[in-house]
Amino acid sequence: MADYPTDPNCIFCKINKGEIPCHKLYEDERVLAFLDIGPLSEGHALIIPKSHYATIDEVPADDAAAMGRIAPAMSKAIMQATGAKSWNLLQNNGSDAGQAVGHVHLHIIPRVAGDAREAPTPGNGLPFKWPAGEVDHGKAEELAKAITDMLA
Ligand code: 5GP
Ligand code: ZN
Repeated sequence: MADYPTDPNCIFCKINKGEIPCHKLYEDERVLAFLDIGPLSEGHALIIPKSHYATIDEVPADDAAAMGRIAPAMSKAIMQATGAKSWNLLQNNGSDAGQAVGHVHLHIIPRVAGDAREAPTPGNGLPFKWPAGEVDHGKAEELAKAITDMLA
């Protein structure tokens, strides 16, 4: 892992190289975890691969596995340190999905009771409610086939 893709203009690559400081939580040969500079809640953290990839579909299996491998221990440590009992693992891909930094990352966002209220204040929660729709089983069957065909 001595040589891996980086982008000199990428803020997370700069953090990885130590050119921009961060509150580091964890590091191994493939991944880095650090506190988010604009936390949605206390303990909001990011896990990034050291290699530069924009979105999750570009990430090779080994780097994706390394991100996933550390997610349970990071979650546990953050919940123990903050006292939170709930959290979201969030991963945004593309600007329409809210991705602002084009270096793939996994958010760990501690949640507390009531923080999904209509008008959250900065740093006090994620205004996240799940507006569930209704499945159309005919369309779902077609879509499931199209997706599984792509995986084959
Ligand atoms: P996205 O919207 O791309 O999923 O999330 C990007 C996250 O990166 C945001 O939550 C933002 O606060 C965080 N972030 C952006 N720049 C920096 C930085 O320089 N340092 C740290 N620690 N986090 C950053
Ligand atoms: Zn990068």
